[in-house]
Amino acid sequence: MIYANDYQDCPYWWEAAPRQQLPSVAESDLPKMVDVLIIGSGYTGLNAALQTARAGRSTLVLEKDLVGHGCSSRNGGQAGTSFKPSISKLEKKFGRDSAIRMLREGHRALQYLKDLIQSENLDCDFEQSGRLIGIHRKRSYERLAREYQSIPNEVKHEFHMVPKTEIRQEIGSDFFFGGCVLPSHGSLHPGKYHSELLTRVLQSGATVIDRCNVTRLEKISSGFSVHTTRGTFNAANVVLATNGYTQSQFHWHNKRILPIGSFQIATEVLPESVTSQLNPRARVISDTQLVGNYFRLSPDRKRQIFGGRVTFTEATSESGTGVLYEQMMKIYPQLTGTKVSYAWVGFVAYTTDISPHIGVHDGVHYAMGYCGSGITLSSYFGMRIGQKVLGTKEGDTELDRLEFRPWPSIFQRKPVMAAATQLTRLAENFI
Ligand SMILES: Cc1cc2nc3c(=O)[nH]c(=O)nc-3n(C[C@H](O)[C@H](O)[C@H](O)COP(=O)(O)OP(=O)(O)OC[C@H]3O[C@@H](n4cnc5c(N)ncnc54)[C@H](O)[C@@H]3O)c2cc1C
Repeated sequence: MIYANDYQDCPYWWEAAPRQQLPSVAESDLPKMVDVLIIGSGYTGLNAALQTARAGRSTLVLEKDLVGHGCSSRNGGQAGTSFKPSISKLEKKFGRDSAIRMLREGHRALQYLKDLIQSENLDCDFEQSGRLIGIHRKRSYERLAREYQSIPNEVKHEFHMVPKTEIRQEIGSDFFFGGCVLPSHGSLHPGKYHSELLTRVLQSGATVIDRCNVTRLEKISSGFSVHTTRGTFNAANVVLATNGYTQSQFHWHNKRILPIGSFQIATEVLPESVTSQLNPRARVISDTQLVGNYFRLSPDRKRQIFGGRVTFTEATSESGTGVLYEQMMKIYPQLTGTKVSYAWVGFVAYTTDISPHIGVHDGVHYAMGYCGSGITLSSYFGMRIGQKVLGTKEGDTELDRLEFRPWPSIFQRKPVMAAATQLTRLAENFI
């Protein structure tokens, strides 16, 4: 029995930042017309709303569930430069100059987030704690060292490799072959970051309505007629900020986003003597496995928070908990017997090229597809898509030219993806 007596099937983050119902809105209270409708109230939607509302555009954010119900109050709180494809892969595909410019967007995203937290005074436990990448094999250790050394000066970032002999200074585990530290990465409290952003958005004059599903967009001469579960109104501009929760009524986007469950658990409160040994520098930690894990201490350093992609068949937090717990024990056997107080799941959005996408399709603005690393990217591209709606030059990004390709339909089938995950896990034991 791995569950604590106080076990809750919800994100640990909701303890300090509960999801609240906004005052209910009657159909007659929906505006007749807005300059900007934003669909989705996560980091993308709220950062977009800050831009448009502060520029004086009437801005409405609609959320089908409670505000911040999606990934933005469920994530691991690990903030990094986030751009997934490596420089060598980007270079091969787009050439050196484009690759450098794309990687630069990742750096800008992290800087934007840090500046936003500071300038808006967002109380969200942000710490520049650095990231430890736990590396499983000698081959990966050498490859990663080569990869980081070869990054062109224009986008170089600080890093240092940690050999096996020194790994205990970073983590209370002998599981990894070695590590790599990225000191510029950091941690935050995802729920508090979201709540603080929401406050700023409301202060900026935007309207936010929850429990209102946008069911259909119809093009009209002045923009869009917007059909929702609470009624219909017109919007001059629409931003789709639904990421891994994009539904089939947004057919074009839905075909380009593969939602993948990402699971997390938070342990019961642990003694300080244990947590300080698990993660002596309170780093955010991820690993080099293809079906990877990511973990950290809670901001108060009292709990271990452990996350990963489990398989593609689990849909509830409880069904993923056992797999995660097993992974956690492999890394930290000293936690044997520790109970789980919280477990939860959220749906991240994968794209065929493992890159986020931002742009306009059929008149609808969108920013999505952060592939599981979206705290910085969704904040930054949310801000940029807001600027695009305003038509300012700052809204241009290096990703504007990326082709947003649909997933082949076989990927939409859960059993196929589940088998692929299991095979990847098995293969990782041999390569
Ligand atoms: C368990 C987990 C751990 C993660 N860990 C990390 C991490 O450590 N670091 C990191 O960088 N990233 C992490 N991520 C990813 C990160 O949280 C996301 O990339 C980011 O929050 C995406 O924000 P978003 O606003 O685009 O989408 P979301 O926050 O998912 O918001 C989309 C919203 O759109 C709403 N919506 C959908 N359809 C409609 C509709 N028709 N009408 C109205 N509303 C609608 C949804 O209800 C949802 O609230 C994690 C994600 C998960 C799930």
